[in-house]
Amino acid sequence: MSRHSVRPAKKSVSDLALFGSGPAFKDPLHVGRPNIGNRRDFRRRVDDILDRRWLTNGGPYVEEFERRVAEFIGVKHCIATCNATVALGIVIRALGLAGEVIVPSFTFVATAHALQWQGITPVFCDIDPRTHNIDHRKVEGLITSRTSGILGVHLWGRPCPIAQLQTLANRHGLALLFDAAHAFACRYRGRRIGGFGDAEVLSFHATKFINAGEGGAVVTDDDDLAAEIRLMKNFGFSGFDKVISIGINGKMSELSAAMGLTNLESVDRFTRINRGNFELYGEGLSNIAGLSVIRHDEKENSNYQYVVLEVDAAKARLTRDQLLAVLQAENVLARRYFYPGVHRMEPYCSHFPKAGFRLPITEAVADRVLVLPTGTGVTKADIRKICAILRKAVVQHREVSATLGGQSNPR
Ligand SMILES: *Cc1c(COP(=O)(O)O)cnc(C)c1O
Repeated sequence: MSRHSVRPAKKSVSDLALFGSGPAFKDPLHVGRPNIGNRRDFRRRVDDILDRRWLTNGGPYVEEFERRVAEFIGVKHCIATCNATVALGIVIRALGLAGEVIVPSFTFVATAHALQWQGITPVFCDIDPRTHNIDHRKVEGLITSRTSGILGVHLWGRPCPIAQLQTLANRHGLALLFDAAHAFACRYRGRRIGGFGDAEVLSFHATKFINAGEGGAVVTDDDDLAAEIRLMKNFGFSGFDKVISIGINGKMSELSAAMGLTNLESVDRFTRINRGNFELYGEGLSNIAGLSVIRHDEKENSNYQYVVLEVDAAKARLTRDQLLAVLQAENVLARRYFYPGVHRMEPYCSHFPKAGFRLPITEAVADRVLVLPTGTGVTKADIRKICAILRKAVVQHREVSATLGGQSNPR
């Protein structure tokens, strides 16, 4: 029995919390609760850091973390940073991007903010409805004389069309950068994500597959680019008292590296648990009208960090937001990632009030996806209960709709 459980599984629709019975989970079940590795190993590292009194600035744990991440991916350079957003900003600057960069709108807002923060205009490209990733067939039409690069995102850990984007980038002389915040330990054509384009950016934020509390990294095979990024993330210092260019403070701390190293050692366990959860959701939600869980290419490795439900409202007879309201009443805090799409957020919606005309797939997908709780903090019993709640809601869609009435905005 799950530690979240307070009651046996619900037997009839009238048991749904929506209809007034108590919630299925006493404590809220969140999306993105951190995966935690071996506590003893973490504490040993923290003690060592405290004994040595070396907390940041090129300490041994950051160096070890960089080496291990580079080895894991099979790439020459890993530069660890305080988070992925700052890493994106640094690599965008180090690559000399300017003017316009083509990027999907269906992503976490940081992808676009990192460009705008440098005064670069993000030009939003629509996505492929099957993969939720940037649609490479729509990129070329967005290239102008101001375009300096393409920033792809491997959403949900599924690789974006890397080869096609590289061909386009070569043909037009553009830089190619990837936001790989979701894709640590995933593969594309047999090779680990991280080794593609000019550089890729990883996130080790608490919600990500492998976390360092907060953290990020740039990975690249380009020696000059790596050297430039190392300078930039440390104020432009090339040695004691010697600053040779503009920089920022993008350093990872030793404590974060200790957390990152510890969690990295559990990568196989996290993958196994996530994959088991993913398969359990797949079985539990099979044959429910209008509901489907997105799939991963079985030929490639994935981290299975995101369980993404797509709701076809016409078939389910319930909208995504109605199902979200059902789940929230049960204390299942599913999330509408990445609703409503970056182009409908500020400052982009003011800059480009008509961007939506070019982004019909982005808007449609943003209206139908729901991310469900997974990871090492969720039990099999929890997942079975969540699936049972969703099945019951769809079976009894009339009562659910009637009870929710016109309610369309969940909390
Ligand atoms: C989490 C995330 C980021 C930002 O990562 P931080 O380490 O939190 O700065 C960027 N892009 C995507 C797609 C993300 O999911």
